[in-house]
Amino acid sequence: MVSNAKMNMLGSPRQSLEAYFTDRGEASFRAHQIMKWIHHRGVYDFAEMSDLSKRLRQQLQTEAMIKVPEIVMEKVSADGTHKWLLRLEDGNCIETVYIPEDSRNTLCVSSQVGCALDCTFCSTARQGFNRNLTSAEIISQLWIARRRLQSGNSNARTISNVVLMGMGEPLLNYDAVVDASRIMMDDLGYGLGKRRVTLSTSGVLPAMDRLRDDLDVSLAVSLHAPNNQLRDKLVPLNRKYPIEELLLACRRFVEGKKHKQRITFEYVMLKDVNDSPSHARELVKLLRDVPSKINLIPFNPFPDTRFQRSEPETIQRFRDILIRAGFTTITRRTRGEDIDAACGQLAGKIQDRSRRAVRFARLEQNLTL
Ligand code: SAH
Repeated sequence: MVSNAKMNMLGSPRQSLEAYFTDRGEASFRAHQIMKWIHHRGVYDFAEMSDLSKRLRQQLQTEAMIKVPEIVMEKVSADGTHKWLLRLEDGNCIETVYIPEDSRNTLCVSSQVGCALDCTFCSTARQGFNRNLTSAEIISQLWIARRRLQSGNSNARTISNVVLMGMGEPLLNYDAVVDASRIMMDDLGYGLGKRRVTLSTSGVLPAMDRLRDDLDVSLAVSLHAPNNQLRDKLVPLNRKYPIEELLLACRRFVEGKKHKQRITFEYVMLKDVNDSPSHARELVKLLRDVPSKINLIPFNPFPDTRFQRSEPETIQRFRDILIRAGFTTITRRTRGEDIDAACGQLAGKIQDRSRRAVRFARLEQNLTL
């Protein structure tokens, strides 16, 4: 078996692979050949890479590896949504979801094993946090989904969009997420345009500023409340990075971009918690100066949650207020609910989460909404 010290080339972006080869006196285009083998042709055995010399193939076999997680379970929803449970080398499991739509096919990718952020309405938070994913583990979700979708149906459309909206907070796993996103956007990888890769964050401010300089992706921000008092309770990270600062960071993120970009604000609709017309009006005021789109997400329940989904009419009324104020607003359609694949329902299987579970219990006790 391969040792952990070997470099997993699956997660190496073009630049690091080029450096790997030039350091060894090889031409940098070897990196391009390897990437095409891995990402375009789905090959994970160096021995099969016929345009590399035998010597180089042997060297790669001793120094490097291409390792993909194992599929433990694949579920297909009545609406065509797929969910995979993937087992990583250390036994932890993560989930990945594919959502086919008329105009696009989106893969929802996880960035961490569990999540450390404690958002009170999210099932991943209940699972606790174990560790960050490597860039190879992040990109392998795309590698696996693409292979599985092609194998089942030769007419299957390819994945056109990726959202980093699965398990975890991507901006708390910055380097690996940036490396994996570079591969997603590279023609030698998955060739996705910048509008087609969306990173969703609860608002890790310093990382948002870094991201702006490092990578041209679309940004979604989990807002969920129009004031600090409520957001402190729903998204505890708000106590560290309150709304005013978050919105300033959002403005910095889009300012000066060549192509006009808007931030997508996600707002989970929780019955009698954040869904009244006055909340909507507060939101209108709040977002007046930020180039924004708003995604309303009907709450997806999970076992033992205290929250309920807002009524459809309540969501409609909320949405109308935003639209009348001039905001592009959509209500996200719930997909894959029958296979627990909807937003906030991803649980995976996480080892060693006891410490976080205790913290969560304490937090929930203190919660008075
Ligand atoms: N940590 C990142 C990525 C998670 S993305 C973030 O917070 O943005 C998943 C999106 O689904 C986030 O907007 C999250 O707040 C939302 N979500 C979480 N639990 C949910 C639930 N039970 N129902 C609906 N949306 C939920």
